[in-house]
Amino acid sequence: MTILPDPPPPLRLISLEDYEPFAGAEAVDRLLQKAARLFDLHVVHVSSTYYGGGVAELLSALTLLMNSAGIRTGWRVIQGRPDFFSITKKMHNALQGGSINLTDLKLAIYEEVAFENAARLHFDHDVVIVHDPQPLPLIRHFRKKVPWIWRCHVDLSAPHPELWSYLSQFIERYDAVVLSLPEYAQRLNTPQRFIMPGINPFSTANKELPDREIDERLDRYDIPRDLPLVVQVSRFDKWKDPRGVIEAFRLARREVDCTLVLVGNVAIDDPEGVEVFESLRNCAEERIRIVSVQDSALVNALQRRAAVVLQKSVREGFGLTVTEAMWKGTPVIGGNAGGIRHQIRDGENGFLVDSVEQAAARIVQVIKDDRLREELGRRARQTVRERFLLTHLMEQWLDLIGGFEARFPLASRPAD
Ligand code: UDP
Repeated sequence: MTILPDPPPPLRLISLEDYEPFAGAEAVDRLLQKAARLFDLHVVHVSSTYYGGGVAELLSALTLLMNSAGIRTGWRVIQGRPDFFSITKKMHNALQGGSINLTDLKLAIYEEVAFENAARLHFDHDVVIVHDPQPLPLIRHFRKKVPWIWRCHVDLSAPHPELWSYLSQFIERYDAVVLSLPEYAQRLNTPQRFIMPGINPFSTANKELPDREIDERLDRYDIPRDLPLVVQVSRFDKWKDPRGVIEAFRLARREVDCTLVLVGNVAIDDPEGVEVFESLRNCAEERIRIVSVQDSALVNALQRRAAVVLQKSVREGFGLTVTEAMWKGTPVIGGNAGGIRHQIRDGENGFLVDSVEQAAARIVQVIKDDRLREELGRRARQTVRERFLLTHLMEQWLDLIGGFEARFPLASRPAD
């Protein structure tokens, strides 16, 4: 007799109903009703990379959840040459408060690539949502008949004035601008809304992992498991302050024995990543592991096994890595910046720090105190459950899109 292997489980998308244990039946029902009002609507997101960074992570989850709720949601990625992404990364830095030399040549390349992408993108959607500065000028090349929304994810607490004024000519063509936090609001004629990101608890990066799988994943990358792990997961980007993390770890190690793991990926739209990674390599030693890889299961394993997760950013639009670690009940020490401040309440569900010395002191405190770790972690998970699951932001998007009904005849129709 031949024994046939079990058939693979049927493929299905995560649905709103799957969120019920976390979000509650009432919230799920409300969302289902709001989604039903927009049933069959055709929405498209446009961004600059399918992987690497929070925007890609967010869109992977949000677009699927929207589809499972009956809203036909697509996702297009623009193409760009290395010089284009080098310019847009400079813009990203300047929007976060850095300097930029806005030459005619740079602006010409930026606008030309947007124009070329516009030629390839054919939209017949009811709503167009454009993410971040890279595809921002696309709007100039379309006869706008439906709502266009610009979603900017960067930390806009102090954008470079000249750059902002240049970009405003594109931004003000949009029907709404969505920023992560109210303090990022700008002087604009376009209405501004504030929607914080959230996480998908079912993704490879966030789902429950048995200890055995965590061990296997750490072993695969030769990450020692004998001492408490201090972890930072981030794109290799100066705003994430990887050097500050290493300095804080070295100070902390004078008082507690531990291992530091810095894991990061390099997104296609972030050409500075390789440079930052290379500049850190000579800091690597037996107890300082620096790993450049895109492996969501490793991210999950590290965030779960860490005694403490750091996100020592000096600028941070929101900081999904903070949310992810908090969801896993791991204490987080975060830089007192941008979206991290909205997630961590200092001393209650994590710690906020303003310097290397403060970070070092908190690492020591958290590693030495099991009860503190447990308490911070418990409250951290609760915070995410209450405020930062994908369902929270999906509801705000449904409200925003539904709100256009009066001005644009959205092709919505009630579900049968
Ligand atoms: N991430 C990852 N691998 C890495 C580094 C980051 O998968 O090596 C993911 C991380 O888990 C998170 C996202 O990339 O989901 C980073 O989002 P965040 O908002 O923290 O920062 P951003 O990169 O958007 O500035």
